[in-house]
Amino acid sequence: MRSTMMDEPLLISRLLGHAATVHGSADVQTWTGSGARRMTYAEVGVQAARLAHALRELGVTGDQRVGTFMWNNNEHLIAYFAVPSMGAVLHTLNIRLFPDQLAYIATHAEDKVVLVDGTLVPLLAKVLPELPTVEHVVLVGAGDADALARAGGGRVAVHTWAELLADRPDTFDWPRVDERDAAALCYTSGTTGNPKGVAYSHRSIWLHSLQVAMPEGFGLRATDRELAVVPMFHAMSWGIPYAAFMSGASLVLPDRFLSGAAIADIIAATRPTKAGAVPTIWLDLLNHLATHDVDLSSLREVIVGGSACPPALMHAFHDRYGIDVIHAWGMTEMSPLGSVSRTPAGAAGEQAWAYRYTQGRVPASVAARIVGPLGDVMPNDGEAVGELEVRGPWVTARYLGDDGPDPAKFRDGWLRTGDVGTLSADGYLTLTDRAKDVIKSGGEWISSVELENALMAHPAVLEACVVGVPDPRWDERPLATVVLCEGAAATAEELRGFLAGKVAKWQLPERWAFIEAVPKTSVGKFDKKRVRADYAAGTLPMTTLG
Ligand code: AMP
Repeated sequence: MRSTMMDEPLLISRLLGHAATVHGSADVQTWTGSGARRMTYAEVGVQAARLAHALRELGVTGDQRVGTFMWNNNEHLIAYFAVPSMGAVLHTLNIRLFPDQLAYIATHAEDKVVLVDGTLVPLLAKVLPELPTVEHVVLVGAGDADALARAGGGRVAVHTWAELLADRPDTFDWPRVDERDAAALCYTSGTTGNPKGVAYSHRSIWLHSLQVAMPEGFGLRATDRELAVVPMFHAMSWGIPYAAFMSGASLVLPDRFLSGAAIADIIAATRPTKAGAVPTIWLDLLNHLATHDVDLSSLREVIVGGSACPPALMHAFHDRYGIDVIHAWGMTEMSPLGSVSRTPAGAAGEQAWAYRYTQGRVPASVAARIVGPLGDVMPNDGEAVGELEVRGPWVTARYLGDDGPDPAKFRDGWLRTGDVGTLSADGYLTLTDRAKDVIKSGGEWISSVELENALMAHPAVLEACVVGVPDPRWDERPLATVVLCEGAAATAEELRGFLAGKVAKWQLPERWAFIEAVPKTSVGKFDKKRVRADYAAGTLPMTTLG
């Protein structure tokens, strides 16, 4: 029997229409450095319609790609809804990529129009000559239009957002596109080879938004105000903008103000109830809070993901500020949400904390399994360690432009995540490493993340990044690079003594380097490739213990 249910497509335009009417007085606030620019969701609806009319006039039809080269701000949010709703595909360009990677991505995606923040014009102008498919650039806010025109060399028409949207109708007749069509496009910040494109559908974004919004996800309600620090150019800001429009939660966007001091100002001024960002943002904030008195009283919960969240960070926010740090895991290929570490019923005290340290429980929509080196599926017993594989309605089945699934990344309909860890019988995922970052010492594996977490629990340590380096006897040994907190002191001997008893003796690093800052990737994660290269080049200030 077929169901009797309506086959109503799950479209982004519906999320926009819903928020702009039912939650019309909810708002987005973008930080300016000294206050916030506020816009209601009703106004976002109007501006989205105007942008869609403007893009049509520039010739955007069908599923053509509109790129964004922007911080998290009101106009980026408008594009998030206008572009997919009109049937085109939003392509969020990562502003931190190297110019040749940007040129590759924009050309591979065939971006026709690029929206650029005024403050980012110098970066875009550098690559514009290498973007042959781009016909129009729209300058958002104050910026050097002449520089863009020069870089475009007569091939690219330059417009300003304000002029382009002026005198346009306030409504748009959003097309009823196929829910399985692409709505948005992200490229993974892959470390080997060219970046790979992942095209999300209207349907996958909808289903993902339900998961993000639900209590076992980020738990968004119309009474919430979410500070989305995680970039809108990285994995769709974890889907927070779409989930906010679904649930009616208001948004706070930091624009380019991402330092610990700036985030502290933003929280004090805009009073968000929730927030989401990678661990380094919260470590910077903690560092700032050590010497500044800041009103964080509005904030109840922050979601931390993108890299392993050190337990010490969770305890610091919990004990000092009463803020729950909730650990989450995901990847660009997964829209990006995989798991969220909400504690199970009945867990309390230390047991609840043990659950919170994990990467979290996979939801109904994400099937997960652990696979051994020979492709054997391992038990979900919290012990068997292997590569995590996933499948689900918001997990990509292949990369854009590939004829089929690349066997290096997909196996029998599962995505190979490249993450190594365990799954427990009750569905909690614990990652020990990226497959390529596991340290192989004398035939045994050392988890770089475990060493990092243990080190970051030392009060003098701000950041610790551990990588495997070649060793003539053991094949590889851990190298610990450490950033100390401002004004703090600690020696390698002391830190090694601190680790003793927390990890097995044979895992204790001999090689140490105290550095100013851990190099970061384009999305704010520890850049372990760079650390290994710096070690190989002999540029690290090394201390070697006997
Ligand atoms: P990206 O596609 O850039 O978001 O990177 C996804 C990768 O980030 C994952 O495959 C993991 O290796 C890593 N990652 C994300 N969240 C976590 C987490 N909570 N703990 C450890 N690694 C994480």
